[in-house]
Amino acid sequence: MTSFREFAQACKVIEATPGSLEMTSQVAELLKKVSPEELPIVTHFVMGEVFPAWSSQEVGVGAGILYAALARSSGLSVGDIENLVKETGDIGRTAVKALARKSKGQATFSSFLEEAPELSLHEVFERFQAISRSSGKGSQTSKIKNLQYLFNCSGSEEVGYIARLAVEDLRIGVGEGIVRDAIASAFNVPVVSVERAFMLTNDMGLVASTAREGGTEAVEGLGLQLNRPIRMMLAQIAPTIESAIAEVGEAAIEWKFDGARVQIHKDGDRVTLYSRKLEDISSSLPDIAASIRKYVHADSAILDGEAVALDERGHPRAFQDILRRLRRKYEVDSTAKEIPLSINIFDIMYLNGEDLIDLPLIRRREMLENCVENGDSISVDRQVLTSNYEEISVIYTEALKAGHEGIMIKNPQSPYSPGKRGKNWLKKKPVMETLDLVVIGAEWGYGKRTSFMGSFALACHDPRTGRFLPVGKVATGFSDEQLAELTAIFSDLIVMESGIRIELKPQVIFEVAFEEIQKSTNYESGYALRFPRLVNVRDDKSLEDVETLGRLEEMYRLQRERGIGPDTA
Ligand code: ATP
Repeated sequence: MTSFREFAQACKVIEATPGSLEMTSQVAELLKKVSPEELPIVTHFVMGEVFPAWSSQEVGVGAGILYAALARSSGLSVGDIENLVKETGDIGRTAVKALARKSKGQATFSSFLEEAPELSLHEVFERFQAISRSSGKGSQTSKIKNLQYLFNCSGSEEVGYIARLAVEDLRIGVGEGIVRDAIASAFNVPVVSVERAFMLTNDMGLVASTAREGGTEAVEGLGLQLNRPIRMMLAQIAPTIESAIAEVGEAAIEWKFDGARVQIHKDGDRVTLYSRKLEDISSSLPDIAASIRKYVHADSAILDGEAVALDERGHPRAFQDILRRLRRKYEVDSTAKEIPLSINIFDIMYLNGEDLIDLPLIRRREMLENCVENGDSISVDRQVLTSNYEEISVIYTEALKAGHEGIMIKNPQSPYSPGKRGKNWLKKKPVMETLDLVVIGAEWGYGKRTSFMGSFALACHDPRTGRFLPVGKVATGFSDEQLAELTAIFSDLIVMESGIRIELKPQVIFEVAFEEIQKSTNYESGYALRFPRLVNVRDDKSLEDVETLGRLEEMYRLQRERGIGPDTA
């Protein structure tokens, strides 16, 4: 049985390691060392997550609860904890300092006594599970008590990592990339197989256990599973229709509907719907589930589509209206009447027990057309196979006239590649490029806006380390109403505050327009955005969708090729 102390010691070593190769080998050692039962827990913990990506379970601990638990365990006041946060700039270091300084006579805290009871990894996981499950009245107290228990049973090495895990931000520089490589090296499985298995299952813990038990064959055997979402296939931007034809040749052209992505799992009469973030949104969309039951003629299927809300003219309504539907948990029926949705299904990944993702798109399309009947609020829309520029331009113009976003230009021979943003799906739309960036900080406003958060710090994602790297700030384009709404949302995500500056848990994604990307030494990413402005708050996207550093580099390169902008900021 591995103790949490051993895990914390390994984290400390990893945290101090500069190179990612060396880090990978240390993570691999850790994965090999733990017991089979502990392996999935460690695999998630080391990336700073407690539950697998596909699960809708989360720890659900904000700064308020964490500070209260630390205050109670240390005998300090919440104000003292807040001061420590300002001083250290990190919740882990705050926990270590707070508990080391605990006031005399604080009988509850045993961590610095010689015989502190050793927490096992399992126990820590179970406590987090209990914290995650507590809801409703009294849940706050119960969460604080569970955290207190963890702090009280931890030594000085562990408390920092407990605190960081509670907010699911371990900060040791290990992301999906390193864990993927570590699983491959620890259990001798090709990296591509680990990657693919992860995209299909969304569960690195499961992939690690499978690799350990059954090696490459078992990992490659991991497939789609009904009622567990798979990562969505994504599209790249085609600068022009001509460039897309040059890339794909004869292409499958479809409208790019302006709505929200929905992945549909039909298991007999049970229909589960997942959002772009892979959250289960079935309870918000009973009308779509009913259409699937009625018009999808298959015992079991996994389908991909876009839910759209149309106005009286048949044009798509504002994106925020669709989000209202997706988020709705109560009074679903009245909202469904107010904002009726229809679903356009454009792909099929699984049918009656068979995995279809490796079949070419044209074959999948045939199967899709065979099993879905077009009916009220459900359709498999037109797809045209062509390489003719004029024909594609006409479809593009029609799509825009109907109020949709543009067109998709797909490679008819391509498999369905979960989680990939590749050249097999190209999108052509008229608007300028935007970036999806995560908000990691904010500042309190000035003058009449002192009670609102104002300027928001944006970051891109470094998939190797799992870290979010700053790329700039957005401060323009907000109405007072919007700032009030955003302040309310972000208030629950405050990790710490110092003067007017606030550090936020990375969760909310802003779609940001900008003039150009510049190289910059001001931000850790090495890039900065010129004239960034908010286009939309993308509640439908998750942290996996945040632009990667690689994509920023690529966009910067393309921009240089097109001759935009000076070299440095
Ligand atoms: P955007 O911000 O342009 O919606 P995105 O990052 O959400 O882009 P992309 O991979 O760039 O996603 O574009 C594909 C998206 O377009 C899908 O996620 C889906 O929601 C939407 N879409 C609409 N119609 C189609 C279609 N016919 N085929 C595939 N995707 C479609």
